[in-house]
Amino acid sequence: MHLYKDALEQLQDGVLIINNDGMIQFANSTFLKRSGYSESDILNQKANYLLHNAPNKTTMNWQGEIELKLKNNSSVTQWINYNPINDEYGDTKHAIIMLSNYEKSELDPLTKLPNRYLLQKQLKNILVDSQKNDKIFAVLYMDLDRFKFVNDTLGHSYGDLLLQQACERMKNSIGDEHILARMGGDEFVCVLQNLQNEGDAENIAKSIVSSFSKPFTLHDIEIHISTSIGISLFPYDGDDDEILLTNADSAMYRAKKKGRNQYEKANIEVSAGCFERLIIENNLRKALERNELSLNFQPQLDIRNEKVIGFEALLRWNHPDLGNIPPSDFIPIAEETGLILPIGDWVLKNACLKLKEWENAGFDSLRIAVNLSAQQFLQKNMVEKIKEVIKETSINPECLELEITEGVVIHDVDSAISVLKQLRDIGVQISIDDFGTGYSSLNYLKELPVNTLKIDRSFIFDIDSNPSSKALTAAITTMAHDLKLNVVAEGVETYKQLSYVKKSSCDVIQGFYFSRPLQSNRVIDFLNANQETNTQRCI
Ligand code: C2E
Ligand code: MG
Ligand code: MG
Repeated sequence: MHLYKDALEQLQDGVLIINNDGMIQFANSTFLKRSGYSESDILNQKANYLLHNAPNKTTMNWQGEIELKLKNNSSVTQWINYNPINDEYGDTKHAIIMLSNYEKSELDPLTKLPNRYLLQKQLKNILVDSQKNDKIFAVLYMDLDRFKFVNDTLGHSYGDLLLQQACERMKNSIGDEHILARMGGDEFVCVLQNLQNEGDAENIAKSIVSSFSKPFTLHDIEIHISTSIGISLFPYDGDDDEILLTNADSAMYRAKKKGRNQYEKANIEVSAGCFERLIIENNLRKALERNELSLNFQPQLDIRNEKVIGFEALLRWNHPDLGNIPPSDFIPIAEETGLILPIGDWVLKNACLKLKEWENAGFDSLRIAVNLSAQQFLQKNMVEKIKEVIKETSINPECLELEITEGVVIHDVDSAISVLKQLRDIGVQISIDDFGTGYSSLNYLKELPVNTLKIDRSFIFDIDSNPSSKALTAAITTMAHDLKLNVVAEGVETYKQLSYVKKSSCDVIQGFYFSRPLQSNRVIDFLNANQETNTQRCI
Protein backbone atom coordinates (compact mmCIF):
# COMPACT_ATOMS: atom_id res chain seq x y z
CA MET A 1 0.00 0.00 0.00
CA HIS A 2 2.86 2.32 0.86
CA LEU A 3 4.39 1.73 -2.52
CA TYR A 4 1.17 2.66 -4.32
CA LYS A 5 0.68 5.70 -2.15
CA ASP A 6 4.25 6.86 -2.81
CA ALA A 7 3.71 6.36 -6.53
CA LEU A 8 0.56 8.50 -6.46
CA GLU A 9 2.42 11.20 -4.54
CA GLN A 10 5.06 11.38 -7.27
CA LEU A 11 2.59 12.18 -10.03
CA GLN A 12 2.48 15.56 -11.77
CA ASP A 13 -1.30 15.12 -11.98
CA GLY A 14 -3.62 15.71 -9.10
CA VAL A 15 -5.19 12.48 -7.81
CA LEU A 16 -8.34 11.94 -5.77
CA ILE A 17 -9.79 8.63 -4.64
CA ILE A 18 -13.46 8.67 -3.78
CA ASN A 19 -15.86 6.06 -2.45
CA ASN A 20 -19.25 5.11 -3.87
CA ASP A 21 -20.89 7.99 -2.10
CA GLY A 22 -18.55 10.40 -3.84
CA MET A 23 -16.66 11.16 -0.62
CA ILE A 24 -12.97 11.95 -0.93
CA GLN A 25 -10.85 9.23 0.69
CA PHE A 26 -7.46 10.30 -0.53
CA ALA A 27 -5.82 13.31 -2.18
CA ASN A 28 -2.22 13.40 -3.32
CA SER A 29 0.07 16.31 -2.60
CA THR A 30 -0.09 17.66 -6.17
CA PHE A 31 -3.84 18.04 -5.73
CA LEU A 32 -3.45 19.72 -2.35
CA LYS A 33 -0.83 22.10 -3.66
CA ARG A 34 -2.84 22.99 -6.73
CA SER A 35 -6.12 23.52 -4.89
CA GLY A 36 -4.79 25.12 -1.73
CA TYR A 37 -6.75 22.77 0.53
CA SER A 38 -5.27 20.80 3.37
CA GLU A 39 -6.08 17.12 3.82
CA SER A 40 -8.39 17.83 6.71
CA ASP A 41 -10.34 20.35 4.58
CA ILE A 42 -11.43 17.80 2.09
CA LEU A 43 -11.21 14.24 3.41
CA ASN A 44 -14.71 12.80 3.67
CA GLN A 45 -16.15 15.77 1.81
CA LYS A 46 -18.18 15.37 -1.39
CA ALA A 47 -15.89 15.53 -4.44
CA ASN A 48 -18.59 17.10 -6.57
CA TYR A 49 -18.54 20.10 -4.32
CA LEU A 50 -15.05 20.84 -5.66
CA LEU A 51 -15.37 19.52 -9.21
CA HIS A 52 -17.99 21.43 -11.15
CA ASN A 53 -19.44 19.67 -14.25
CA ALA A 54 -18.11 16.27 -13.20
CA PRO A 55 -20.52 13.38 -13.80
CA ASN A 56 -22.73 12.08 -11.05
CA LYS A 57 -22.53 8.51 -12.23
CA THR A 58 -19.69 6.60 -10.68
CA THR A 59 -19.81 3.40 -12.71
CA MET A 60 -18.31 4.72 -15.94
CA ASN A 61 -14.97 5.89 -17.17
CA TRP A 62 -15.20 9.51 -18.05
CA GLN A 63 -12.90 12.20 -19.30
CA GLY A 64 -13.65 15.81 -19.73
CA GLU A 65 -13.22 19.34 -18.71
CA ILE A 66 -14.27 20.49 -15.25
CA GLU A 67 -13.84 23.55 -13.10
CA LEU A 68 -11.92 22.90 -9.91
CA LYS A 69 -13.01 25.17 -7.08
CA LEU A 70 -9.94 26.33 -5.17
CA LYS A 71 -9.64 27.10 -1.49
CA ASN A 72 -9.46 30.83 -2.25
CA ASN A 73 -12.87 30.52 -3.98
CA SER A 74 -11.55 31.08 -7.48
CA SER A 75 -11.49 28.18 -9.91
CA VAL A 76 -9.26 26.63 -12.58
CA THR A 77 -10.09 24.52 -15.58
CA GLN A 78 -8.82 20.96 -15.31
CA TRP A 79 -8.94 17.97 -17.55
CA ILE A 80 -10.11 14.97 -15.56
CA ASN A 81 -9.88 11.26 -16.08
CA TYR A 82 -12.42 9.41 -14.00
CA ASN A 83 -11.90 5.67 -13.54
CA PRO A 84 -13.94 3.34 -11.32
CA ILE A 85 -11.83 0.83 -9.38
CA ASN A 86 -13.14 -2.72 -9.24
CA ASP A 87 -12.38 -4.91 -6.27
CA GLU A 88 -11.54 -8.60 -6.49
CA TYR A 89 -15.23 -9.52 -6.80
CA GLY A 90 -15.74 -7.11 -9.67
CA ASP A 91 -17.68 -4.65 -7.52
CA THR A 92 -17.04 -0.96 -7.77
CA LYS A 93 -16.45 0.58 -4.40
CA HIS A 94 -14.08 3.39 -5.31
CA ALA A 95 -13.03 5.57 -8.18
CA ILE A 96 -9.80 7.34 -8.98
CA ILE A 97 -9.86 10.82 -10.46
CA MET A 98 -6.79 12.23 -12.16
CA LEU A 99 -6.73 15.98 -12.74
CA SER A 100 -4.36 17.55 -15.20
CA ASN A 101 -3.64 21.17 -15.87
CA TYR A 102 -4.65 22.57 -19.16
CA GLU A 103 -1.66 24.19 -20.63
CA LYS A 104 -2.60 27.25 -22.59
CA SER A 105 -1.03 25.81 -25.68
CA GLU A 106 -3.38 22.86 -25.47
CA LEU A 107 -6.53 24.83 -26.13
CA ASP A 108 -7.49 26.36 -29.42
CA PRO A 109 -7.90 30.08 -28.76
CA LEU A 110 -10.68 30.60 -31.30
CA THR A 111 -13.05 27.81 -30.29
CA LYS A 112 -11.66 27.03 -26.81
CA LEU A 113 -11.62 23.38 -27.83
CA PRO A 114 -8.70 21.03 -27.12
CA ASN A 115 -6.14 21.33 -29.90
CA ARG A 116 -4.35 18.58 -31.81
CA TYR A 117 -1.77 17.97 -29.07
CA LEU A 118 -4.24 17.67 -26.27
CA LEU A 119 -6.44 15.44 -28.38
CA GLN A 120 -3.57 13.09 -29.03
CA LYS A 121 -2.91 12.87 -25.30
CA GLN A 122 -6.56 12.23 -24.56
CA LEU A 123 -6.83 9.66 -27.29
CA LYS A 124 -3.89 7.74 -25.89
CA ASN A 125 -5.58 7.57 -22.48
CA ILE A 126 -8.86 6.46 -23.96
CA LEU A 127 -7.04 3.81 -25.93
CA VAL A 128 -5.40 2.34 -22.83
CA ASP A 129 -8.69 2.34 -21.00
CA SER A 130 -10.62 0.76 -23.87
CA GLN A 131 -8.02 -1.92 -24.36
CA LYS A 132 -8.15 -2.79 -20.70
CA ASN A 133 -11.92 -2.87 -20.51
CA ASP A 134 -12.75 -4.26 -23.97
CA LYS A 135 -14.70 -1.21 -24.95
CA ILE A 136 -15.31 0.30 -28.34
CA PHE A 137 -14.98 3.95 -29.17
CA ALA A 138 -15.22 5.97 -32.36
CA VAL A 139 -13.11 8.69 -33.91
CA LEU A 140 -14.97 11.14 -36.15
CA TYR A 141 -12.86 13.27 -38.46
CA MET A 142 -14.80 16.29 -39.68
CA ASP A 143 -13.98 18.89 -42.26
CA LEU A 144 -16.12 21.83 -43.30
CA ASP A 145 -16.87 21.71 -47.00
CA ARG A 146 -15.49 24.66 -48.94
CA PHE A 147 -14.37 26.54 -45.88
CA LYS A 148 -11.35 27.81 -47.80
CA PHE A 149 -13.55 29.59 -50.27
CA VAL A 150 -15.51 31.36 -47.57
CA ASN A 151 -12.26 32.46 -46.01
CA ASP A 152 -10.85 33.61 -49.33
CA THR A 153 -13.89 35.31 -50.74
CA LEU A 154 -15.36 36.83 -47.58
CA GLY A 155 -12.28 37.27 -45.41
CA HIS A 156 -10.96 35.89 -42.14
CA SER A 157 -13.44 37.53 -39.82
CA TYR A 158 -16.21 35.65 -41.59
CA GLY A 159 -14.13 32.49 -41.58
CA ASP A 160 -13.53 32.72 -37.82
CA LEU A 161 -17.15 33.34 -37.10
CA LEU A 162 -18.11 30.37 -39.22
CA LEU A 163 -15.68 28.13 -37.35
CA GLN A 164 -17.10 29.22 -34.01
CA GLN A 165 -20.68 28.66 -35.07
CA ALA A 166 -19.84 25.34 -36.68
CA CYS A 167 -18.14 24.27 -33.48
CA GLU A 168 -21.27 25.13 -31.47
CA ARG A 169 -23.43 23.02 -33.76
CA MET A 170 -21.05 20.10 -33.51
CA LYS A 171 -20.97 20.38 -29.71
CA ASN A 172 -24.76 20.35 -29.54
CA SER A 173 -25.01 17.25 -31.71
CA ILE A 174 -22.28 15.42 -29.87
CA GLY A 175 -23.28 16.12 -26.28
CA ASP A 176 -21.08 16.93 -23.31
CA GLU A 177 -19.86 13.46 -22.50
CA HIS A 178 -17.71 13.20 -25.63
CA ILE A 179 -14.56 14.97 -26.73
CA LEU A 180 -14.48 17.54 -29.49
CA ALA A 181 -11.15 18.99 -30.64
CA ARG A 182 -9.96 21.32 -33.36
CA MET A 183 -7.10 19.86 -35.34
CA GLY A 184 -6.36 23.08 -37.18
CA GLY A 185 -7.95 24.97 -40.05
CA ASP A 186 -11.45 23.67 -40.60
CA GLU A 187 -10.73 20.17 -39.31
CA PHE A 188 -12.33 18.86 -36.16
CA VAL A 189 -12.09 15.52 -34.42
CA CYS A 190 -14.59 14.02 -32.06
CA VAL A 191 -14.00 10.97 -29.90
CA LEU A 192 -17.11 9.08 -28.84
CA GLN A 193 -16.64 6.94 -25.78
CA ASN A 194 -18.77 4.34 -24.04
CA LEU A 195 -20.50 3.29 -27.24
CA GLN A 196 -22.85 0.33 -27.22
CA ASN A 197 -22.42 -0.38 -30.94
CA GLU A 198 -21.28 1.16 -34.18
CA GLY A 199 -24.75 2.45 -34.90
CA ASP A 200 -24.29 4.97 -32.08
CA ALA A 201 -21.39 6.60 -33.87
CA GLU A 202 -23.30 6.72 -37.14
CA ASN A 203 -26.29 8.33 -35.45
CA ILE A 204 -24.13 11.07 -34.03
CA ALA A 205 -22.43 11.58 -37.42
CA LYS A 206 -25.87 11.84 -39.01
CA SER A 207 -27.00 14.41 -36.50
CA ILE A 208 -23.85 16.48 -37.04
CA VAL A 209 -24.38 16.43 -40.80
CA SER A 210 -28.00 17.47 -40.44
CA SER A 211 -27.15 20.20 -37.94
CA PHE A 212 -25.46 21.93 -40.88
CA SER A 213 -28.58 21.97 -43.01
CA LYS A 214 -29.68 25.36 -41.75
CA PRO A 215 -27.68 28.32 -43.09
CA PHE A 216 -25.14 30.14 -40.96
CA THR A 217 -25.62 33.82 -40.32
CA LEU A 218 -22.25 35.53 -40.45
CA HIS A 219 -22.53 39.23 -39.65
CA ASP A 220 -24.83 40.38 -42.41
CA ILE A 221 -24.94 37.39 -44.71
CA GLU A 222 -26.39 33.90 -44.76
CA ILE A 223 -24.32 31.06 -46.08
CA HIS A 224 -24.87 27.34 -46.50
CA ILE A 225 -21.94 25.19 -45.45
CA SER A 226 -21.97 21.45 -45.02
CA THR A 227 -19.55 19.07 -43.38
CA SER A 228 -18.02 15.75 -44.38
CA ILE A 229 -17.21 13.14 -41.76
CA GLY A 230 -15.09 9.99 -41.64
CA ILE A 231 -15.64 7.44 -38.88
CA SER A 232 -13.17 4.91 -37.56
CA LEU A 233 -13.89 2.51 -34.73
CA PHE A 234 -11.61 1.04 -32.14
CA PRO A 235 -10.67 -1.82 -32.33
CA TYR A 236 -11.99 -2.68 -35.82
CA ASP A 237 -10.27 0.05 -37.81
CA GLY A 238 -7.03 0.24 -35.93
CA ASP A 239 -5.54 -0.35 -32.52
CA ASP A 240 -3.48 2.77 -32.16
CA ASP A 241 -4.37 6.42 -32.07
CA GLU A 242 -2.49 7.39 -35.22
CA ILE A 243 -4.05 4.66 -37.33
CA LEU A 244 -7.52 5.49 -36.08
CA LEU A 245 -7.03 9.14 -36.99
CA THR A 246 -5.57 8.31 -40.40
CA ASN A 247 -8.37 5.91 -41.23
CA ALA A 248 -11.03 8.36 -40.14
CA ASP A 249 -9.30 11.05 -42.20
CA SER A 250 -9.24 8.98 -45.36
CA ALA A 251 -12.86 7.95 -44.87
CA MET A 252 -13.61 11.68 -44.62
CA TYR A 253 -11.91 12.24 -47.99
CA ARG A 254 -14.09 9.51 -49.48
CA ALA A 255 -17.14 11.30 -48.12
CA LYS A 256 -15.94 14.45 -49.87
CA LYS A 257 -15.33 12.62 -53.12
CA LYS A 258 -18.83 11.19 -52.99
CA GLY A 259 -20.22 14.73 -53.01
CA ARG A 260 -19.71 16.02 -49.44
CA ASN A 261 -22.36 16.66 -46.81
CA GLN A 262 -22.26 13.05 -45.62
CA TYR A 263 -20.30 10.56 -43.56
CA GLU A 264 -18.31 7.49 -44.54
CA LYS A 265 -17.07 4.61 -42.46
CA ALA A 266 -13.47 3.48 -42.56
CA ASN A 267 -14.04 -0.25 -42.30
CA ILE A 268 -15.54 -0.79 -45.77
CA GLU A 269 -12.16 0.03 -47.22
CA VAL A 270 -10.33 -2.30 -44.93
CA SER A 271 -12.54 -5.37 -45.14
CA ALA A 272 -14.14 -5.46 -48.58
CA GLY A 273 -11.48 -3.33 -50.20
CA CYS A 274 -8.44 -5.53 -49.73
CA PHE A 275 -9.58 -8.54 -51.65
CA GLU A 276 -11.13 -6.58 -54.46
CA ARG A 277 -7.97 -4.53 -54.69
CA LEU A 278 -5.78 -7.58 -55.15
CA ILE A 279 -7.98 -8.86 -57.96
CA ILE A 280 -7.93 -5.50 -59.68
CA GLU A 281 -4.19 -5.14 -59.26
CA ASN A 282 -3.42 -8.59 -60.70
CA ASN A 283 -5.67 -8.08 -63.68
CA LEU A 284 -4.63 -4.54 -64.35
CA ARG A 285 -1.09 -5.69 -65.02
CA LYS A 286 -2.35 -7.62 -68.01
CA ALA A 287 -5.05 -5.23 -69.17
CA LEU A 288 -2.82 -3.33 -71.58
CA GLU A 289 -1.39 -6.32 -73.43
CA ARG A 290 -4.81 -8.00 -73.55
CA ASN A 291 -6.32 -4.95 -75.18
CA GLU A 292 -8.92 -4.48 -72.49
CA LEU A 293 -8.47 -0.72 -72.24
CA SER A 294 -10.28 1.77 -74.40
CA LEU A 295 -11.05 5.47 -74.45
CA ASN A 296 -14.39 7.23 -74.33
CA PHE A 297 -14.74 10.84 -75.36
CA GLN A 298 -16.96 13.38 -73.69
CA PRO A 299 -17.81 16.51 -75.69
CA GLN A 300 -17.04 19.97 -74.40
CA LEU A 301 -19.18 22.78 -75.77
CA ASP A 302 -18.79 26.50 -76.11
CA ILE A 303 -21.46 27.90 -73.79
CA ARG A 304 -22.39 30.75 -76.14
CA ASN A 305 -23.33 28.72 -79.20
CA GLU A 306 -23.31 25.12 -77.88
CA LYS A 307 -20.80 24.15 -80.53
CA VAL A 308 -18.44 21.27 -79.77
CA ILE A 309 -14.93 22.60 -79.26
CA GLY A 310 -13.30 19.36 -78.21
CA PHE A 311 -13.43 16.20 -76.13
CA GLU A 312 -12.06 14.85 -72.87
CA ALA A 313 -10.55 11.39 -73.20
CA LEU A 314 -11.77 9.12 -70.40
CA LEU A 315 -10.24 5.73 -69.80
CA ARG A 316 -12.40 2.60 -69.75
CA TRP A 317 -11.49 -0.92 -68.70
CA ASN A 318 -13.62 -3.82 -69.81
CA HIS A 319 -12.48 -7.07 -68.25
CA PRO A 320 -13.87 -10.32 -69.76
CA ASP A 321 -15.05 -11.65 -66.35
CA LEU A 322 -15.22 -8.61 -64.12
CA GLY A 323 -17.02 -6.46 -66.69
CA ASN A 324 -16.66 -2.69 -66.81
CA ILE A 325 -14.55 -1.44 -63.95
CA PRO A 326 -14.98 2.29 -63.29
CA PRO A 327 -11.86 4.48 -63.40
CA SER A 328 -12.47 5.59 -59.82
CA ASP A 329 -11.83 1.97 -58.81
CA PHE A 330 -8.76 1.16 -60.87
CA ILE A 331 -6.94 4.46 -61.38
CA PRO A 332 -5.97 4.85 -57.71
CA ILE A 333 -4.57 1.32 -57.83
CA ALA A 334 -2.75 2.03 -61.08
CA GLU A 335 -1.26 5.07 -59.37
CA GLU A 336 -0.13 3.21 -56.29
CA THR A 337 1.45 0.39 -58.26
CA GLY A 338 3.12 2.60 -60.84
CA LEU A 339 1.07 0.99 -63.62
CA ILE A 340 -0.31 4.43 -64.38
CA LEU A 341 2.91 5.23 -66.26
CA PRO A 342 2.56 2.69 -69.10
CA ILE A 343 -1.22 3.11 -69.03
CA GLY A 344 -0.89 6.89 -69.15
CA ASP A 345 1.47 6.66 -72.14
CA TRP A 346 -1.08 4.52 -73.90
CA VAL A 347 -3.90 6.99 -73.16
CA LEU A 348 -1.91 9.96 -74.38
CA LYS A 349 -0.87 8.34 -77.63
CA ASN A 350 -4.31 6.93 -78.45
CA ALA A 351 -6.09 10.16 -77.59
CA CYS A 352 -3.80 12.05 -79.99
CA LEU A 353 -4.32 9.43 -82.69
CA LYS A 354 -8.08 9.90 -82.39
CA LEU A 355 -7.73 13.65 -82.67
CA LYS A 356 -5.78 13.12 -85.89
CA GLU A 357 -8.49 10.78 -87.16
CA TRP A 358 -11.19 13.43 -86.57
CA GLU A 359 -9.02 16.02 -88.25
CA ASN A 360 -8.69 13.77 -91.28
CA ALA A 361 -12.47 13.43 -91.32
CA GLY A 362 -12.75 17.20 -91.67
CA PHE A 363 -13.08 18.33 -88.06
CA ASP A 364 -9.84 20.17 -87.81
CA SER A 365 -10.19 22.68 -85.03
CA LEU A 366 -11.03 20.35 -82.18
CA ARG A 367 -8.95 19.83 -79.10
CA ILE A 368 -8.41 16.79 -76.96
CA ALA A 369 -8.11 16.88 -73.17
CA VAL A 370 -6.11 14.13 -71.48
CA ASN A 371 -5.98 13.50 -67.72
CA LEU A 372 -2.52 13.26 -66.20
CA SER A 373 -1.85 11.65 -62.83
CA ALA A 374 0.64 13.16 -60.42
CA GLN A 375 3.17 10.43 -61.11
CA GLN A 376 3.05 11.04 -64.81
CA PHE A 377 3.48 14.73 -64.30
CA LEU A 378 6.45 14.22 -62.01
CA GLN A 379 8.37 11.94 -64.40
CA LYS A 380 11.72 13.40 -65.34
CA ASN A 381 11.23 12.86 -69.07
CA MET A 382 7.60 13.99 -69.09
CA VAL A 383 8.06 16.96 -71.39
CA GLU A 384 10.17 14.89 -73.78
CA LYS A 385 7.49 12.20 -73.89
CA ILE A 386 4.81 14.73 -74.75
CA LYS A 387 6.94 16.24 -77.49
CA GLU A 388 7.55 12.80 -78.93
CA VAL A 389 3.85 11.89 -79.02
CA ILE A 390 3.00 15.20 -80.67
CA LYS A 391 5.62 14.54 -83.32
CA GLU A 392 4.67 10.90 -83.83
CA THR A 393 0.96 11.62 -84.27
CA SER A 394 1.62 14.93 -86.01
CA ILE A 395 -1.05 16.87 -84.16
CA ASN A 396 -1.06 20.58 -83.50
CA PRO A 397 0.32 20.98 -79.94
CA GLU A 398 -2.21 23.72 -79.27
CA CYS A 399 -4.98 21.17 -79.65
CA LEU A 400 -3.64 19.07 -76.82
CA GLU A 401 -4.83 19.97 -73.34
CA LEU A 402 -3.43 18.26 -70.26
CA GLU A 403 -5.64 18.06 -67.17
CA ILE A 404 -3.89 18.02 -63.84
CA THR A 405 -5.33 18.38 -60.35
CA GLU A 406 -4.45 20.93 -57.70
CA GLY A 407 -2.70 18.26 -55.65
CA VAL A 408 -0.11 17.70 -58.37
CA VAL A 409 0.99 21.28 -58.22
CA ILE A 410 0.89 21.71 -54.46
CA HIS A 411 3.28 18.82 -54.07
CA ASP A 412 6.22 20.88 -55.31
CA VAL A 413 5.12 24.24 -56.60
CA ASP A 414 8.47 25.40 -57.95
CA SER A 415 9.22 22.38 -60.05
CA ALA A 416 5.59 22.23 -61.18
CA ILE A 417 5.86 25.79 -62.44
CA SER A 418 9.01 24.98 -64.36
CA VAL A 419 7.43 21.93 -66.03
CA LEU A 420 4.27 23.89 -66.83
CA LYS A 421 6.38 26.61 -68.45
CA GLN A 422 8.15 24.09 -70.63
CA LEU A 423 4.80 22.71 -71.73
CA ARG A 424 3.50 26.18 -72.46
CA ASP A 425 6.56 26.82 -74.59
CA ILE A 426 5.67 23.86 -76.78
CA GLY A 427 2.17 25.26 -77.07
CA VAL A 428 0.36 22.61 -75.04
CA GLN A 429 -2.67 23.81 -73.01
CA ILE A 430 -3.00 23.08 -69.30
CA SER A 431 -6.15 22.86 -67.23
CA ILE A 432 -6.71 22.39 -63.52
CA ASP A 433 -9.24 19.60 -63.07
CA ASP A 434 -11.78 19.19 -60.25
CA PHE A 435 -11.05 22.73 -59.11
CA GLY A 436 -12.40 23.54 -55.67
CA THR A 437 -12.04 20.08 -54.18
CA GLY A 438 -8.39 20.39 -53.20
CA TYR A 439 -6.51 22.30 -50.62
CA SER A 440 -5.53 25.29 -52.61
CA SER A 441 -6.86 28.76 -52.54
CA LEU A 442 -7.51 30.81 -55.59
CA ASN A 443 -4.50 32.94 -54.81
CA TYR A 444 -1.80 30.55 -55.83
CA LEU A 445 -3.24 30.31 -59.32
CA LYS A 446 -1.65 33.63 -60.17
CA GLU A 447 1.71 31.94 -60.10
CA LEU A 448 0.79 29.12 -62.42
CA PRO A 449 1.09 29.14 -66.18
CA VAL A 450 -2.24 27.42 -66.82
CA ASN A 451 -5.01 28.13 -69.32
CA THR A 452 -8.18 26.63 -67.95
CA LEU A 453 -10.01 25.88 -64.72
CA LYS A 454 -12.49 23.05 -64.58
CA ILE A 455 -14.91 23.74 -61.75
CA ASP A 456 -15.63 20.48 -59.99
CA ARG A 457 -19.00 18.97 -60.60
CA SER A 458 -19.92 19.04 -56.90
CA PHE A 459 -20.39 22.81 -57.32
CA ILE A 460 -22.60 22.35 -60.36
CA PHE A 461 -24.56 19.51 -58.83
CA ASP A 462 -26.57 21.74 -56.49
CA ILE A 463 -26.02 25.10 -58.15
CA ASP A 464 -29.78 25.54 -58.59
CA SER A 465 -30.61 24.83 -54.94
CA ASN A 466 -27.57 25.77 -52.86
CA PRO A 467 -26.83 29.50 -52.77
CA SER A 468 -23.22 28.85 -51.72
CA SER A 469 -22.56 26.73 -54.80
CA LYS A 470 -24.00 29.47 -56.95
CA ALA A 471 -22.01 32.20 -55.21
CA LEU A 472 -18.78 30.25 -55.24
CA THR A 473 -19.11 29.28 -58.90
CA ALA A 474 -19.66 32.92 -59.77
CA ALA A 475 -16.71 34.00 -57.59
CA ILE A 476 -14.37 31.40 -59.09
CA THR A 477 -15.41 32.39 -62.59
CA THR A 478 -14.89 36.09 -62.00
CA MET A 479 -11.49 35.55 -60.47
CA ALA A 480 -10.46 33.11 -63.19
CA HIS A 481 -11.44 35.62 -65.85
CA ASP A 482 -9.35 38.28 -64.12
CA LEU A 483 -6.45 35.89 -64.44
CA LYS A 484 -7.31 35.35 -68.12
CA LEU A 485 -8.27 31.74 -67.55
CA ASN A 486 -11.01 29.85 -69.33
CA VAL A 487 -13.61 28.23 -67.12
CA VAL A 488 -15.17 24.85 -67.79
CA ALA A 489 -18.22 23.75 -65.81
CA GLU A 490 -18.16 20.00 -65.34
CA GLY A 491 -21.13 17.76 -64.67
CA VAL A 492 -23.95 19.82 -66.13
CA GLU A 493 -26.86 17.37 -66.09
CA THR A 494 -30.02 19.44 -66.28
CA TYR A 495 -31.39 22.44 -68.10
CA LYS A 496 -31.72 24.26 -64.80
CA GLN A 497 -28.04 23.75 -63.99
CA LEU A 498 -27.18 24.91 -67.48
CA SER A 499 -29.03 28.17 -67.05
CA TYR A 500 -27.33 28.90 -63.72
CA VAL A 501 -23.96 28.06 -65.22
CA LYS A 502 -24.70 30.45 -68.06
CA LYS A 503 -25.52 33.20 -65.56
CA SER A 504 -22.18 32.71 -63.85
CA SER A 505 -20.54 33.23 -67.25
CA CYS A 506 -18.48 30.05 -67.53
CA ASP A 507 -16.99 29.57 -70.99
CA VAL A 508 -17.30 25.87 -71.66
CA ILE A 509 -19.68 23.15 -70.51
CA GLN A 510 -19.24 19.44 -70.21
CA GLY A 511 -21.85 17.07 -68.83
CA PHE A 512 -24.56 14.50 -69.30
CA TYR A 513 -27.02 17.20 -70.33
CA PHE A 514 -25.31 17.36 -73.70
CA SER A 515 -23.67 13.98 -73.82
CA ARG A 516 -22.26 11.18 -71.75
CA PRO A 517 -18.75 10.06 -72.66
CA LEU A 518 -19.03 8.49 -76.14
CA GLN A 519 -17.44 5.38 -77.52
CA SER A 520 -14.94 6.38 -80.16
CA ASN A 521 -17.03 5.11 -83.07
CA ARG A 522 -19.86 7.47 -82.06
CA VAL A 523 -17.82 10.66 -82.08
CA ILE A 524 -18.09 11.54 -85.78
CA ASP A 525 -21.90 11.08 -85.70
CA PHE A 526 -22.11 13.35 -82.71
CA LEU A 527 -19.99 15.99 -84.42
CA ASN A 528 -22.14 15.88 -87.54
CA ALA A 529 -25.34 16.21 -85.54
CA ASN A 530 -23.90 19.09 -83.56
CA GLN A 531 -22.86 20.88 -86.72
CA GLU A 532 -26.32 20.45 -88.18
CA THR A 533 -28.11 21.93 -85.15
CA ASN A 534 -25.71 24.82 -85.25
CA THR A 535 -26.25 25.49 -88.93
CA GLN A 536 -30.01 25.31 -88.38
CA ARG A 537 -29.74 27.79 -85.58
CA CYS A 538 -27.73 30.14 -87.78
CA ILE A 539 -30.35 29.95 -90.55
P1 C2E B 1 -12.52 13.74 -64.40
O1 C2E B 1 -11.28 13.97 -65.15
O2 C2E B 1 -13.03 14.86 -63.57
O3 C2E B 1 -13.61 13.33 -65.49
C1 C2E B 1 -14.93 13.69 -65.46
C2 C2E B 1 -15.77 12.60 -64.88
O4 C2E B 1 -17.07 13.10 -64.66
C3 C2E B 1 -15.93 11.40 -65.81
O5 C2E B 1 -16.05 10.24 -65.00
C4 C2E B 1 -17.27 11.72 -66.46
O6 C2E B 1 -17.93 10.57 -66.97
C5 C2E B 1 -18.01 12.32 -65.31
N1 C2E B 1 -19.09 13.18 -65.76
C6 C2E B 1 -19.10 14.02 -66.82
N2 C2E B 1 -20.26 14.68 -66.92
C7 C2E B 1 -21.01 14.27 -65.88
C8 C2E B 1 -22.34 14.60 -65.44
O7 C2E B 1 -23.06 15.42 -66.01
N3 C2E B 1 -22.78 13.99 -64.31
C9 C2E B 1 -22.01 13.08 -63.65
N4 C2E B 1 -22.53 12.51 -62.56
N5 C2E B 1 -20.77 12.74 -64.04
C10 C2E B 1 -20.27 13.33 -65.16
P2 C2E B 1 -15.20 8.93 -65.28
O8 C2E B 1 -15.07 8.71 -66.73
O9 C2E B 1 -15.80 7.87 -64.43
O10 C2E B 1 -13.77 9.32 -64.75
C11 C2E B 1 -13.56 9.53 -63.40
C12 C2E B 1 -12.19 10.07 -63.13
O11 C2E B 1 -11.18 9.12 -63.46
C13 C2E B 1 -11.83 11.29 -63.99
O12 C2E B 1 -12.41 12.44 -63.45
C14 C2E B 1 -10.34 11.28 -63.91
O13 C2E B 1 -9.91 11.84 -62.70
C15 C2E B 1 -10.03 9.80 -63.88
N6 C2E B 1 -9.61 9.38 -65.21
C16 C2E B 1 -10.35 9.00 -66.27
N7 C2E B 1 -9.57 8.69 -67.33
C17 C2E B 1 -8.29 8.90 -66.92
C18 C2E B 1 -6.99 8.76 -67.55
O14 C2E B 1 -6.85 8.43 -68.73
N8 C2E B 1 -5.89 9.05 -66.80
C19 C2E B 1 -5.99 9.47 -65.51
N9 C2E B 1 -4.88 9.72 -64.84
N10 C2E B 1 -7.18 9.61 -64.90
C20 C2E B 1 -8.32 9.34 -65.60
MG1 MG C 1 -10.60 15.35 -66.20
MG1 MG D 1 -12.99 16.75 -63.37
